[in-house]
Amino acid sequence: MNKLRILDEAYLPIVTKPSRYTGSFLHAARKDPATVKVRALLCFPDLYEIGMSYLGIKILYHILNKRSDAMAELCFTPWGDMEQLMRAEGIPLYSLESRTPAAEFDLIGFSLQYELSYTNVLTMIDLAQIPLRSAARRDQDPIVVAGGLCTVNPEPLSPFIDAFVIGDGEEVIQEMCDLMIERRESGLKRAEVLRRLGALDGVYVPAHFEEVVNPFGFVAREPKPESPTQKPRYRYVPSLDPEYYPEKPLISPTEITHDRLGVEVMRGCTRGCRFCLAGYMNRPLREKRADQVVKEVQCGIVHAGWDEVSLLSLSTTDYKQLPVVLHELDRFTNELGVNVSLPSTRVGTLAPSVADKIQQGRRGSITFAPEAGTQRMRDVINKGIDEAELEYSVKLARDQGWGGIKFYFMIGLPTETEADVDGIAEIIGKCQQWAKGGNKRMHFNVGISPHVPKPHTPFQWEIQDSMETLNRKVERLRQGFRGMNNVRLKWRDPDTAFLEGVFSRGDVRTADALEAAWRMGARFDGWSECFNFGLWMKAFEQVGIDPSLYLRPRDLDEVLPWDHIRTPVVKKFLLQERAKAYAAALTPDCRDHACYRCGAPCFTPKARDGRRVSLQLAPGQGQLPETLDFRVPDDVTTQMIEHRVEELRQAPIETLKSEPPAPAQGAPTTNENGSAGKGPAESPAYGRRRKAWPTSIKGPQAQRFRVAYEKLGQARFTSHLDLVRIFDRALRVAKIPMAFSQGFNRHAKIAYGPPLSLGATSRSEYFDLELAQPCPWPTIEAMNDVLPDGLRITGGRAFSRQTESLMAAITQADYEVRLTDYLMDLLSRGENVHRVRQELEQGVTAFREAAEWTVMKQSHGQKGKTVNARPAVTQIALDAGPTPLCVRITSRLHAPGYLRPDLLLKSLFQSFEFDPRLLLVHREALWVERGGTVLNPLDALEESSFWRPVPVHPADGDAADPAYGGECAEKS
Ligand code: SF4
Repeated sequence: MNKLRILDEAYLPIVTKPSRYTGSFLHAARKDPATVKVRALLCFPDLYEIGMSYLGIKILYHILNKRSDAMAELCFTPWGDMEQLMRAEGIPLYSLESRTPAAEFDLIGFSLQYELSYTNVLTMIDLAQIPLRSAARRDQDPIVVAGGLCTVNPEPLSPFIDAFVIGDGEEVIQEMCDLMIERRESGLKRAEVLRRLGALDGVYVPAHFEEVVNPFGFVAREPKPESPTQKPRYRYVPSLDPEYYPEKPLISPTEITHDRLGVEVMRGCTRGCRFCLAGYMNRPLREKRADQVVKEVQCGIVHAGWDEVSLLSLSTTDYKQLPVVLHELDRFTNELGVNVSLPSTRVGTLAPSVADKIQQGRRGSITFAPEAGTQRMRDVINKGIDEAELEYSVKLARDQGWGGIKFYFMIGLPTETEADVDGIAEIIGKCQQWAKGGNKRMHFNVGISPHVPKPHTPFQWEIQDSMETLNRKVERLRQGFRGMNNVRLKWRDPDTAFLEGVFSRGDVRTADALEAAWRMGARFDGWSECFNFGLWMKAFEQVGIDPSLYLRPRDLDEVLPWDHIRTPVVKKFLLQERAKAYAAALTPDCRDHACYRCGAPCFTPKARDGRRVSLQLAPGQGQLPETLDFRVPDDVTTQMIEHRVEELRQAPIETLKSEPPAPAQGAPTTNENGSAGKGPAESPAYGRRRKAWPTSIKGPQAQRFRVAYEKLGQARFTSHLDLVRIFDRALRVAKIPMAFSQGFNRHAKIAYGPPLSLGATSRSEYFDLELAQPCPWPTIEAMNDVLPDGLRITGGRAFSRQTESLMAAITQADYEVRLTDYLMDLLSRGENVHRVRQELEQGVTAFREAAEWTVMKQSHGQKGKTVNARPAVTQIALDAGPTPLCVRITSRLHAPGYLRPDLLLKSLFQSFEFDPRLLLVHREALWVERGGTVLNPLDALEESSFWRPVPVHPADGDAADPAYGGECAEKS
């Protein structure tokens, strides 16, 4: 039996969050696998909610699916219960969209973003039913590749991965696909494919490198004589071209960690924080054109309907076109009630005019990452910020009315002393003083992370603090923070940092420990509820490795396990930076100062185009002064920005010129960098205020609609809360003029009928909408264009009277509960089908005749209680047809003893045991009762006995409201 065909009826109903495994996302590319020449499975080794939040995988998905000859589909690590089920039932890892087994793809690609996801990579390879180790794979097996930040040291995973992509994947993934097509068409042998892969720029094939033990006992790598490359070089794309980014973003039906539109504005960072791998690895810095960013946001919001857009980069306040982008987005986002957010805010770089435009609707928390508590320590890591800038940022957050500030700090940095650790509590104490007088409920969340030295950074040779040292420092911090009000201190466990440290700078031998731990059951190590440190220690012991050796300092002359990988920054520069760190000397941003020749290809002809965008000047910044300041000078007027936006829209990028703006009359004095607003001075122009929503999108309501919809197919695995989010987005896409609640967390005024339990389908669900302006029915119906498969608006009726809420008015429901073929097979084991039917018939008859029917009702996480289910059921009958067996039940929803139909049906069986979630529950109708008559909730709108005394608009009169679509049935 093809287990993937019966997923929906046999397996998904009994796992947690089944919508993780359905693949019913909107704007997915659904291609017929038989019609393409190459198939790639893009895997993220973590839970669906995490992976779907990651932009990189969506970029590759879009690039590949744009090709007519290629198909890319997605896959994420199944959570524990699903993995167990897959293993027990022999279900292979499969792609979400077409449910194709992973082993049938040409290419399986993993995105490696953090070391603690490595065991999930092994889980996915194993579930794909292909050999775990590359050396054991056969000619017909897919090629397993991996990309992402962790590939700067690929060694801990090198036995399991056929080829690593170092750097940006946008171009190289296409070259790989071309090679896969050739492999298929010409029948290339696996060894030849690997050889050709190794010859691609940006690709490392471990099989072409031999292991060499260095004098310190670590395994480094050297190219074999036949290796097509001596030192695999990272790959980069010169500019962030529009064709890499989808117009219609993928939308998950279920809530994901970052459930918003993410738009990349810049890649790379030249600030040069010495601990930051992402900053070094993503050089050269490339900015996206402002008009391109605006267009992507507009397309994304128009097609997806999110209420938040996040402008993504390593340091978005350094994006020089930010004020232009925010200004241009302002009108558009205001109209639709969309918030703009930044992932984190570099201390000292947030201009009041920028801060004023972000998170306008709900100002929760703003994030700052000073990283270290003392100035000396901040200079050691080249953070490049001082206390005055932190004071400025905190006061700005206070004046802008933010409810809280998140601070990120690190401990265990090179040269750290006790005074540096104590400095964290001291600086937070000062921040409390600076924040006084702002939001009364303002709170601080302080996050502490142990420093893990990363390869290819100036700290790659440093010692990592042991767990004992880190625990001591955490205790010291806890003492320091004692007695501080409204401050919450959180820290990352030293044991997870320990493991991350081992794999960050591990050699190929750590792969054996990885496999051993995985075989012992290590999974989802980044999740505190799954992480088992003791198990890992056993695994290291089993393979004879002392993991603490990997935390030791490295000799500067030592050949390191990752030295054979060429990243943008050369070792000489890293050594210089390390020396400067020990002297607490700064290396200012190379965009403001001279180039330090770090090795990044900023000035190659290829990079020049991308770089040119980076060097565009924001209005008011003049003609590339010696020192640039990326804050928006406060003397930049709206007209200047508008002019600039117009320029960007019309002119090709080569012709753009930045004219220094004429100084505004009475403009504030500027600092030496030519900008104003730096430092502790407060700007009276930016007081605390809440966004004033445009009148067109706030109450009072001008019209109401009762809308009927159906929930069928895979949509049955969408929870009620997710459903609410889906309709919320659809309303925004259809541009329905909703009435909104006023307040801090405003929301559209929608009232839903009785929720449907997870796993059930329905043909008759309802919600009431309140609109700020009258709206024609086709606009409401247009929501269908953006609803996922299975959800569909079927009818509706406008109304203007105040009526009872749907929740209170609907009192009866008709259900059909079916035993699926799978469940019948399970119960009858192919033999006693007749006995199953007989027992159900007897159960139904007994129930009808009984005055009382007691059932043990088990609520989630609570002690079970006994209920009498009989009074809530008004009708029950077994369908006459042979199979599938179907029982029709009519229940009173608010009656005491109401029982979910699946539980009720299960109680009718005496001798068969099964999980009631395997029953297929379908809600056929919902009813409103009045005086012995039951009415469809749409028809009930015309029934005057439901009206409340106050009409919305007295002038609207009592005329009957028109009905749209669907059937308005009456039942007696
Ligand atoms: S090459 Fe020069 S300009 Fe480019 S990132 Fe390195 S230091 Fe900066």
